[in-house]
Amino acid sequence: MKPAISPAILAFLFTLLSACSVDAQDDAGQSEHDATRISAAGPDQKLSQSVNCKAVKLQVLGAGGPEINDGMASSSFIIWINGKAGIMVDAGGGSSLNFEKSGADFNDLDAILLTHLHVDHSVAVPVYVKAGYFSGRDSNLPLLGPDAGGDFPSTVDFTRSLFSDQQKSVYPYLSDNFRQQPSTDFLIKPQNVNPEGKVWHRKLSEKLSVSAINVIHGAVPAIAWRVDYGQCSITFSGDMNGSSGNLQQLALNSNLLVANNAIPEDAGRIAKFLHMTPLTIGKIAKKAKVKKLLLAHFMLRTKDVIPETLKIIRKNYQGEIIIASDLLKVDP
Ligand SMILES: [Zn+2]
Repeated sequence: MKPAISPAILAFLFTLLSACSVDAQDDAGQSEHDATRISAAGPDQKLSQSVNCKAVKLQVLGAGGPEINDGMASSSFIIWINGKAGIMVDAGGGSSLNFEKSGADFNDLDAILLTHLHVDHSVAVPVYVKAGYFSGRDSNLPLLGPDAGGDFPSTVDFTRSLFSDQQKSVYPYLSDNFRQQPSTDFLIKPQNVNPEGKVWHRKLSEKLSVSAINVIHGAVPAIAWRVDYGQCSITFSGDMNGSSGNLQQLALNSNLLVANNAIPEDAGRIAKFLHMTPLTIGKIAKKAKVKKLLLAHFMLRTKDVIPETLKIIRKNYQGEIIIASDLLKVDP
């Protein structure tokens, strides 16, 4: 049966319900939107939250998962800082077109963070690297992702297997983005991140830092990411089942938690080994005391049951919940 309400319509409804905290179009008038939110929110806590995050926005480049009949690009997000696309989290298929539509400039990116190396989170990496040649980028680009495990290479080996000209790789013609050569304009600098159950930190600039912690996504090496800019923080669950208890630790007091909603509550055992249920999402959001929750990484099995999902999350979490759609821009 066809769904009665599409995610796009739901996203629109939630935009209205969330007192203009979501700006789907542009950066212009940010203070206007903040003002609307403050007056709607009232408490001082919201006022300071808004001030803390004034320079920061999250934009969805891909609200979907691995399916190609869901009308969404695969998982990807950018964090805008002072009007520039500073951080990309995940690089799923189709995200590069939305990167272009978002108006982001590849030269502005400080880092790409990968939650894990499944195709729907990582396949567009070579697309961005090649595009960088034409963007004129001349500064190196950190690519941070998980270490090796199971069927998966480490992030460094993943990058090497794509671009090396010293071993068999997929795109040796792009090796000057991997190994310094006379023709190198910028290098992609992969780094394996293995937090081993503790929060891992890296400072990218005076005010910008990234943190990570291991999460359980079946047997796939996976990490959740947190990005802090000044006092503003956004945490990304990535794909995970919630059983480690680590995400709530990383996300504690985040302004925004981006939670992947890949399965419905009544999913099967294997799906639940890979992904968290709506009940788990609500519990984690509550424990982490996040100010807002953005549901993303929809699949056909979840995008048609969003009202039910919200009811289940509400059993534990009472903060604002926003529904991701491609190109949606959110005030954290
Ligand atoms: Zn995924």
